[in-house]
Amino acid sequence: MPGLRVGLTGGIASGKTTAARRFAELGATVIDADEVARALVEPGMPALAEIVARFGDGVLGADRRLDRRALRERVFRDPAARRDLEAILHPRIRAEMTRRTAAASGPYAILVIPLLIEGGPRDDLDRVLVVDVTEATQHRRLLERDRVPAALADSMLAAQARRAERLARADDVLPNEGSLAALHAGVDALHRRYLALAAAHAPPPSGGPSAAADP
Ligand code: ATP
Repeated sequence: MPGLRVGLTGGIASGKTTAARRFAELGATVIDADEVARALVEPGMPALAEIVARFGDGVLGADRRLDRRALRERVFRDPAARRDLEAILHPRIRAEMTRRTAAASGPYAILVIPLLIEGGPRDDLDRVLVVDVTEATQHRRLLERDRVPAALADSMLAAQARRAERLARADDVLPNEGSLAALHAGVDALHRRYLALAAAHAPPPSGGPSAAADP
């Protein structure tokens, strides 16, 4: 069980995945809410059956797998539908992330949670780390990466928490306006800090130092 659980968040295309990859290279346990969500709606999983019961067969592709884009479009402009989907998915995502964290062996865990701020308070995290960029940079990187029309990028940004709201919840901030090398340097500095914090949180080894030195 890691000695420290850090929730990593940030707006769309802020650099969460890029930062998380660097943390993983340094030996942190990285648990990604999006990846957990995808695993929970694989064929045969109870959450998929509940989604189909609520939204109908139209959210399944020809291969009977969840058509995530169709589902996203279905809930995008319908707050009641979105709430129903969240009620099916969120408790399961959180339980699975807790389970994976408890099973992890790294010194600390990075839990990548894109909508951490929008989702309200969490008692399963020790710290919140925000990857911070200006909305102009988010917009530009979103266009470059996903080739979406500018108007769609605007509405994707507008659907999320504002930069100031995220920063207000941050214990740590990772700026990402600069180069990838600068982002990596920022992650490296946080890694050293988290190792120290995790060591301070961790319970002392059982048996004490003499038992460890004298097997
Ligand atoms: P999403 O919210 O969509 O999951 P994300 O927050 O995980 O996105 P990334 O995919 O890590 O963001 O980064 C968005 C894009 O910006 C990617 O194409 C990535 O390569 C690029 N990027 C991230 N950081 C930098 C940087 N410092 N310099 C240049 N490009 C960057």
